[in-house]
Amino acid sequence: MKIAKKIVLHFPQQTIDKPIVSALIRDFALDFNILKASISPGEEGLMILELTGEQKDYDRGIKYLQEAGLDIQSLSQDVVRNENRCTHCGACITLCPTGAFTLEKGTRKVKFDDTKCVVCELCVKACPPHAMDLRF
Ligand code: SF4
Ligand code: SF4
Repeated sequence: MKIAKKIVLHFPQQTIDKPIVSALIRDFALDFNILKASISPGEEGLMILELTGEQKDYDRGIKYLQEAGLDIQSLSQDVVRNENRCTHCGACITLCPTGAFTLEKGTRKVKFDDTKCVVCELCVKACPPHAMDLRF
């Protein structure tokens, strides 16, 4: 049976220039659709992929990615904002790869649209007062 799953891959610096993802088609018969890709200032890579293929090939492909040193996260988690902690500093606005944060003109408050969030965790790590958190 064919499945389609969205995952977030975090590439440590030493893996960024390696053709790791292309092997998913070549060696594991998985199709992938890159939904987002970025490299952070610290040179850690981030890629959001939709993988399609047979379950057994998907499982083998995920194992291969883990063994290659990538950190893999499924999109079944949520990121939530603690409204009491957010200081509306705006640090997350440019950092978020999907534009989930916007500055409200009149109030100068930072709005969070969780429907745009792909759980990359960048804001969770970067938010100064730790207002962003993972919910499992
Ligand atoms: S970085 Fe944190 S405190 Fe600053 S606006 Fe974003 S969620 Fe709020
Ligand atoms: S985890 Fe934060 S930075 Fe990443 S997509 Fe969601 S809101 Fe944007």
